[in-house]
Amino acid sequence: MGHVIRALPKGKNFRAFAVECKDVVETVRRLQGLSPVATAALGRALAGVALLAADLKVGWVMLQINGGGPLGEVIAEGDAEGNLRGTVQNPSVTLPPKDKKLPVGLGVGKKGYISVIRDLGLKEVYQSSAELVSGEIAEDLAYYLTVSEQVPSAVALGVLVDTDGKVLAAGGFLVQKLPEATEEEVKELEKVLKSFPQVTSLLSKGLSPEEILKEVFGSIEMLEKREVRYKCSCSIEKVERTLVALGKEELSKLLDEGKDVEVVCHFCRQKYTVTLPRIKELLKEITKKEEEK
Ligand code: ZN
Repeated sequence: MGHVIRALPKGKNFRAFAVECKDVVETVRRLQGLSPVATAALGRALAGVALLAADLKVGWVMLQINGGGPLGEVIAEGDAEGNLRGTVQNPSVTLPPKDKKLPVGLGVGKKGYISVIRDLGLKEVYQSSAELVSGEIAEDLAYYLTVSEQVPSAVALGVLVDTDGKVLAAGGFLVQKLPEATEEEVKELEKVLKSFPQVTSLLSKGLSPEEILKEVFGSIEMLEKREVRYKCSCSIEKVERTLVALGKEELSKLLDEGKDVEVVCHFCRQKYTVTLPRIKELLKEITKKEEEK
């Protein structure tokens, strides 16, 4: 279990979020058998989405990063309850370290887009994108928030992976400018962040999200603290709904194949079996609905 906080720096016109999510990233690493560079990339995306989700009262937010690199698409999702999940298209890709660091930017690539999709429990789902800047994820998210959402933002995300692949530290922070912030305040913050230590070094020293924000701002007013955990929202009902959405023809084909349908969730590797008799029932349901129309 980790946690994410929402805070206001005292006497300054910014808002800030910080997260510690080592357990979440270690859980996803074990579940999906992630390579070190895949762990770092997905871990950063999970920390990033946790920071965005900390601002939600209801619904969920998804971060989708597609940079054309060997890792393929990286997806991370978080909801208002602190549940996080994520997946990377090619989880076993390994790349040699660059300057003793896992080359997340190379793995993700930078020829593509970062998209943020938000479901705030309203009728519509909101989606917006920006071009990738570096594929390092924190920079890309900051650029997205600043340009696409027009909220000047600074983002730091980090995952520290041990030589045996285990996650030693994961987390990050997000600072956003409030409209009242003066140019001087912004310059001062930029100066602080320029010489700020790597967020992984602070996390691995055991600093909490509160303490990290205090390092940035001196003192903060805590607004909210939420637990974060790796929890998938998949279920047999959702699997069945997906099958129904395939339509009568596709479902009949599955029935003709004469085998149970096995579905494995990309996010948590949970296996679901839809038996032949159940497929027959689903087909009947579709037919019944069609007749009612
Ligand atoms: Zn799942």
